[in-house]
Amino acid sequence: MSRQVNRIQGTLFDLPKVGLATERPSKLLMRNSRLRRDPERIWNWTLPALAAVLPSGRKIVTCPSASTCADICYALFGTYRFRNVLERHVANLRFVVEDLEGWEQSMRAELASRRFRHAAVRIHDAGDFFTDSYLAAWLRIIAARPETFFYAYTKEVSRFKRMVEPQPPPNLAWVYSLGGKHDALLDPATDRVADVFPTEAAISQAGWHSQATSDLLAVQGPSPVGMSVNRIPTAVRLLGNRTLGQMQQESDRRKRALRASRRGEPR
Ligand code: SF4
Repeated sequence: MSRQVNRIQGTLFDLPKVGLATERPSKLLMRNSRLRRDPERIWNWTLPALAAVLPSGRKIVTCPSASTCADICYALFGTYRFRNVLERHVANLRFVVEDLEGWEQSMRAELASRRFRHAAVRIHDAGDFFTDSYLAAWLRIIAARPETFFYAYTKEVSRFKRMVEPQPPPNLAWVYSLGGKHDALLDPATDRVADVFPTEAAISQAGWHSQATSDLLAVQGPSPVGMSVNRIPTAVRLLGNRTLGQMQQESDRRKRALRASRRGEPR
């Protein structure tokens, strides 16, 4: 059983049943403390990181393409684990899962406010485009609000290459973040990619480009993009002197070797 499955079962799927998350959120877009410090005007929408259990008991994987990123995910530590924060994120997820059409209408209505004209919306502080229908709903919302700029980090490489890349909306930008199941599909020469580094100095030493001064640089600045690991002790320790992309490659190699040894192939 993989560490990720253990992690889902051992932490997220054992979350306290978020029974208070029964109310639909009245506001869908927020500005968290990190984005409030950003020099740009950025709002964000979020889901629970990795997976969550709805009050009905239904389990939803919100980051189906996550892999080693889950080991150092900032959204699985600290304030993101406070009950009120988790409940809010689960309430968002519940709205999407139980009434996608109603959620889409509410998001469109909220985005009609003047405050979102010429503003940026980060789709997902945590979570990802976890189904085709959810991504399709976002694409309709983005098309309906051309005066708002939308952006996202995503590990849903296959889904984006199939559903977004053939006809990308002009007001949507994205960066593929390494540390997921589909890293091997990415080519930094042609795909915009982001990786997590141990320090800011390591980003520049590698010739990558930090987004530390504004989150928007992840999609509007030079590529490839680097960000330094969140200073969570577990994340710092697990990453060590590697990048997250390198950590993923090591994990992929270990899995391939394990599969080969199970088939009785020489190592
Ligand atoms: S995809 Fe993002 S939010 Fe989800 S587990 Fe990985 S780092 Fe966390």
